[in-house]
Amino acid sequence: MIIAAPEREIPAPEREIVVELDGLTRSFPGSPEVHAVRGVDLIIRSGEYVSIVGPSGSGKSTLLHLLGLLDLPSGGTYRLDGEDVSALPERRRSAVRGSRIGFVFQAFHLLPSRTVLDNVMLSMLYQGVPRRQRRERAVEALDRVGLDHRREFTPRTLSGGERQRVAIARALAGRPSLLLADEPTGNLDRANASGVLELFDDLHADGLTLAVITHDDQVSRRADRRVRMIDGRLEPVLEERS
Ligand code: ADP
Ligand code: MG
Repeated sequence: MIIAAPEREIPAPEREIVVELDGLTRSFPGSPEVHAVRGVDLIIRSGEYVSIVGPSGSGKSTLLHLLGLLDLPSGGTYRLDGEDVSALPERRRSAVRGSRIGFVFQAFHLLPSRTVLDNVMLSMLYQGVPRRQRRERAVEALDRVGLDHRREFTPRTLSGGERQRVAIARALAGRPSLLLADEPTGNLDRANASGVLELFDDLHADGLTLAVITHDDQVSRRADRRVRMIDGRLEPVLEERS
């Protein structure tokens, strides 16, 4: 009699690395010089949801701006989707930013006098996406965040939660491989914040890679992994199991 060998556990293939930081630093000149980010090593894999917590002034926003290619490091390396983007010239950097990064700000940063649809479409203007395609993608992104019916509204007629969802649609329209958010619920009340967080959960379930700065426990508990920034350095947050 042949007895079948018990099935071996086959480890899931390791997910691709989206972000790889190696000794990343950012200092601001002055007297005294400010060492906002001091040698950060970080790997974020495809589909991961990472939250970054830490006290005010610890360097979280500076780090996120570096991740978003809105700023350049003073030292160390940053690889995005395997490409070294630590010192790209501005033109190339903005092309990479436009095609691979979505950024969501605490204060939404929408154009108040343009329609919701325009706000989302404008985000792709400099990527060379043809107008028709920009419109299609914008409509699709607005649909994704549940605001397709608000297309022709202006941001000032929307609630805070809706505004932030428009900003998220804008970030998604360029089909980023990485979505970054800096205190995305900081200007929202509890109910509106919950809507935004549920949306992040859905995007995470769809496989999007997310890095979110927050000091809100309600936010950080939803992430796969939490890291804490202290005085320009990153450390893992040890989970307390109850
Ligand atoms: P956090 O987001 O954790 O509150 P930041 O990244 O905004 O912290 O700031 C970290 C440190 O870097 C602070 O001391 C801040 O004053 C300083 N800093 C941030 N941006 C600049 C800048 N553009 N020029 C000079 N100092 C800055
Ligand atoms: Mg900040």
